[in-house]
Amino acid sequence: MRDFLKELGLSGVNSGAYGNGWIEHPGGGELTSVSPTEEEPVGKVLQADENDYETIVQAAQERFESWRMVPAPKRGEIVRQLGEELRKYKRPLGQLIAFEMGKILSEGEGEVQEAIDIADFAVGLSRQLYGLSMHSERPKHRMYEQWHPLGPIGIVTAFNFPVAVWAWNAMIAAVCGDTMIWKPSSKTPLSAIAVQHICDRVMKANDVQGVFNLAVGRGSAVGERLINDKRIPLISATGSCRMGRRIGSVVAQRLGRTLLELGGNNAVIVTEDADQDMALRAIVFGAVGTAGQRCTSTRRIFLHKSIAKEFTDRLIKAYESITIGDPLDPDTLMGPMIDEGAIEDMMAALEEAKAEGAEILTGGKRIDRKGFFVEPTIVKAKHGMKITQEETFAPILYVFEFETVEEAIHMQNDVDQGLSSAMFTTNLHAAETFLSPAGSDCGIANINIGTSGAEIGGAFGGEKDTGGGREAGSDAWKNYMRRQTCTINYSHDMPLAQGVKFDIE
Ligand code: NAD
Repeated sequence: MRDFLKELGLSGVNSGAYGNGWIEHPGGGELTSVSPTEEEPVGKVLQADENDYETIVQAAQERFESWRMVPAPKRGEIVRQLGEELRKYKRPLGQLIAFEMGKILSEGEGEVQEAIDIADFAVGLSRQLYGLSMHSERPKHRMYEQWHPLGPIGIVTAFNFPVAVWAWNAMIAAVCGDTMIWKPSSKTPLSAIAVQHICDRVMKANDVQGVFNLAVGRGSAVGERLINDKRIPLISATGSCRMGRRIGSVVAQRLGRTLLELGGNNAVIVTEDADQDMALRAIVFGAVGTAGQRCTSTRRIFLHKSIAKEFTDRLIKAYESITIGDPLDPDTLMGPMIDEGAIEDMMAALEEAKAEGAEILTGGKRIDRKGFFVEPTIVKAKHGMKITQEETFAPILYVFEFETVEEAIHMQNDVDQGLSSAMFTTNLHAAETFLSPAGSDCGIANINIGTSGAEIGGAFGGEKDTGGGREAGSDAWKNYMRRQTCTINYSHDMPLAQGVKFDIE
């Protein structure tokens, strides 16, 4: 067994169920986590069944009764301790993420850093959950709004950010006074269990277990149960648009709230006057990093006609120099895809692209070695090709040409998704057009920065089929609370609003 697994408290067989403490023998059957590099088991997980799910929800409900009454800055203090504990385990947790998910170690550690950053952010936020105060139209009346905790919430996460996405939700929800039930991806359960061990230690020391709970489990036993559960006022779900459609409609049926962070089809526009060195570095990182398995991965680039040939040649050269291999090796820039299915999806997309008349400029093949490795791929495409309008969760980059900035923006926006976008330019007119209301229609719009690698301080999320949710910084915390408008009458009269008269003797 690898040292980092032991350091994180993992063993050969691990419980994947936690409700105010570990459930020792959950009944939902065994799940094996497989390393995409080795194609070998990393460890086993006992999944939650329906009964375990019930235990977990009840634990989260019960803890909510007391947690909501803990002053927010005191909740912040506990989140601060959690951030400290994450700092201690940054290295082994980063190694586990790299081993289980396949991203390179530096990105694995970066993901833990993101969890630490959001913990720090949440600590400060715990003293800033501000409500507005308004002037009442009635004399001697005071009107204000305040924010209260929402309840036990559900957090559904994708495989590609097995720790950070939970942290974006959990750290903020915790200071807001919510308790939570985390349903992680079944492709990366051990990263979730390792994080739960960290939470368990901190919460036990503060005698508030049951704030953070975990349910690794099948869709039928946990996933569908969670989204249909009226006791859970908010489901924050990160994953594919297909998943978002299902969760969105199920939760809407019961008039619950959703926070949806779904797929992207992110693009970079490079104008004729752009700093091409900067653009090149950002595009290669955006398209090849995490083997193209980020929601913000760069999937399409639009190059001004006058620079397209030269820039594409440089891009191909850069792609052919990428070191691909073991994500734990510090020299590696690109690790494996998550599983066999991901490779099949990538190959099917390339076949479809070819059938639509696209040309593969480099890459396009599976690498003949153990593990789920592929060549990062550049495809010359034309606007309107159907495959380029879908998110294929793989390192495929479609290259388009344009003549005017307006045309480039139109093509960029002409897809269903609306997560991240970027323009490389030194032209003020182009930059401001891109950022104007007639510009990018995405939740994230950058100038001279690529599409991936957002900071936690800004609200993160996207428009259209990306789901409209916002997580992390800015005022995203409002998603996790309920707003209450309060009016206090300190007069001895009972005036009605809008001057309505209703006098009784
Ligand atoms: P996925 O949709 O297959 O699964 C995501 C999660 O949803 C998993 O935990 C899965 O078990 C769960 N799930 C699926 N159906 C469910 C249901 N009916 N009820 C309850 N839970 C259900 O996605 P994935 O392959 O793990 O991740 C890749 C996708 O996630 C990509 O589309 C990517 O763009 C997206 N993503 C988006 C963001 C973002 O912030 N916008 C971040 C990361 C990943």
